[in-house]
Amino acid sequence: MAKTTRLIIVGGSAAGPSAAAKAKRVNRDLEVMIFEKGDFVSYGA
Ligand SMILES: Cc1cc2nc3c(=O)[nH]c(=O)nc-3n(C[C@H](O)[C@H](O)[C@H](O)COP(=O)(O)OP(=O)(O)OC[C@H]3O[C@@H](n4cnc5c(N)ncnc54)[C@H](O)[C@@H]3O)c2cc1C
Repeated sequence: MAKTTRLIIVGGSAAGPSAAAKAKRVNRDLEVMIFEKGDFVSYGA
């Protein structure tokens, strides 16, 4: 079974989704999870 590398990001406002998008551009096989404590996650990035 292939090993999946998982990136966990805490915070879904500005920096979090930006970091997630960059990480996926660098390695599209990454599994990225964003945790946001508030009700809304930014989709701008
Ligand atoms: C009064 C004020 C006005 C501003 N006005 C502007 C503006 O007009 N234009 C502009 O471009 N910038 C503005 N900024 C700056 C902008 O808000 C910040 O640059 C930007 O929000 C920083 O984003 P961030 O993702 O680094 O942090 P944050 O926006 O602080 O996001 C962090 C996120 O992490 C979440 N979080 C924290 N702890 C946890 C946890 N334990 N588990 C899960 N989630 C967690 C929070 O809920 C939050 O959503 C303003 C800032 C302030 C204070």
